[in-house]
Amino acid sequence: MKIPAKGLGRDELFEKLAAFRAHDMPWRDGRTFAYVYDPGPEAESVIHRAYTMYLGENALDPTVFPSTLVLENDVVSIAAAHLGGDDEVAGSFTSGGTESILLAVKTARDHAREARGIREPELIVPETAHAAFHKAAHYLDMKLVSVPVDPATFKADVTAMREAIGPNTILLVGSAVSYAHGVVDPIRELGALALEKDLLLHVDACIGGFLLPYFRRLGAPVPDFDFQVPGVTSISMDFHKYAFAAKGASVLLHKNKDLRRHQFYACASWSGYTVINSTVQSTKSAGPLAACWAVLHHFGDEGYLELARSMLAATRKIVDGIGAIPGLRLLARPEMNLVAFTSDEVSVFHVIDEMKARGWFVQPQLGFGSSKENIHLSLNRRALDLADDLLRDLGECVVIARKLPPPGGDLSALRGALASLDLEKLDPPMLGHILREAMAATGIAGASLPDRMAAVSEVLNHLPPPLRERLLVEYMNGLFQSRVDGA
Ligand SMILES: *Cc1c(COP(=O)(O)O)cnc(C)c1O
Repeated sequence: MKIPAKGLGRDELFEKLAAFRAHDMPWRDGRTFAYVYDPGPEAESVIHRAYTMYLGENALDPTVFPSTLVLENDVVSIAAAHLGGDDEVAGSFTSGGTESILLAVKTARDHAREARGIREPELIVPETAHAAFHKAAHYLDMKLVSVPVDPATFKADVTAMREAIGPNTILLVGSAVSYAHGVVDPIRELGALALEKDLLLHVDACIGGFLLPYFRRLGAPVPDFDFQVPGVTSISMDFHKYAFAAKGASVLLHKNKDLRRHQFYACASWSGYTVINSTVQSTKSAGPLAACWAVLHHFGDEGYLELARSMLAATRKIVDGIGAIPGLRLLARPEMNLVAFTSDEVSVFHVIDEMKARGWFVQPQLGFGSSKENIHLSLNRRALDLADDLLRDLGECVVIARKLPPPGGDLSALRGALASLDLEKLDPPMLGHILREAMAATGIAGASLPDRMAAVSEVLNHLPPPLRERLLVEYMNGLFQSRVDGA
């Protein structure tokens, strides 16, 4: 494709975009249980207007666009107050959880360099911590130590984390809540450990930070996780999850400005404008910030409390309902509205395909550590209305899945081949070969995905995680394909 010789008319152009989107998940019907956080039509129109109003303003330079400073200080203050912080707490608005976490790890690295002279810093995370910590360690060339969790509760094992601490450890991590199982790590114990060992402690409240305080106010038992806990030095919280902001909205908070100083980057060593960045991005639209400010002021505390009330009721109903479906069991008792359940009798991957055929998107989670393969639900604003339909269809899909042959057929040959595979010696041609074999076996051709994904998930579930990573990189590297001369 090339830039069209003549510009298209508006109608034609938007028709094309609409046609592309016709194949995407129609998430506004509430039947998508991951990836999207639907604010509802009224809030959506407020978000659109604020976002487009600030679309062209550049939050790179608050001296030229001082309103972006006002908006950011408002949004960060709201977050600090929401998470038990005081006026010492200092933060930044970021593009998402991954950026907040990357910056938290970079801050800890630079702080440890200055305060302790540490050159080969390590962070310790429970194995349920979000992949973003692994990504941060990868980008920043740091060592990440991943520690098994309690296999019954899926919460961080503080004794095991204590034993993992070494002379180069700089940062401990806990989640509130973990994405996979929706549980809060023992943040009080981790805080005490961090204070004892003079380490920083980051609480990843990306998905839980906004909603947990509301669940607590509604009487749900929510363990302590915020700045009120001694030892907590930073917290990440996404607005683009359960604050229902437009995507591109998160915050990183530090206990004080002495810590936040290490988050900044400045460069005067070139011939252009001096760069002083709080975040990874430099030029950045103020749209996400303005839309975030707008949605917080649109719903207000009362509005969010009502949304939380509905999602808490949905959680209770769906957790009980899943427990009552023969063949299904919860992996953990969720402390928020994120539910993980599995089966010891049928393939959960078949259940996911059957649900998809009925218009539901529920998310597969592959087996890792003590967490066997399972189905994840991030319950949304509409979940209470849809709970009866969801549970009925789930029950019926389990019955259907019982009658299906195991997905992916007989995998004993694959297991045998993998046992003798040396992951260290895998080169791109060999990976390409394995990928083609796997795609042929599971019915994937080129860029088109089969309707049923169970075989793909089943094969991936049997691969060691490092091979999953390398195969999926190989697959994606092929999927994104330029066609300079084609249409
Ligand atoms: C979503 C999430 C993240 C990553 O956030 P992105 O906005 O997707 O970059 C990190 N931690 C937890 C617990 C999350 O749920």
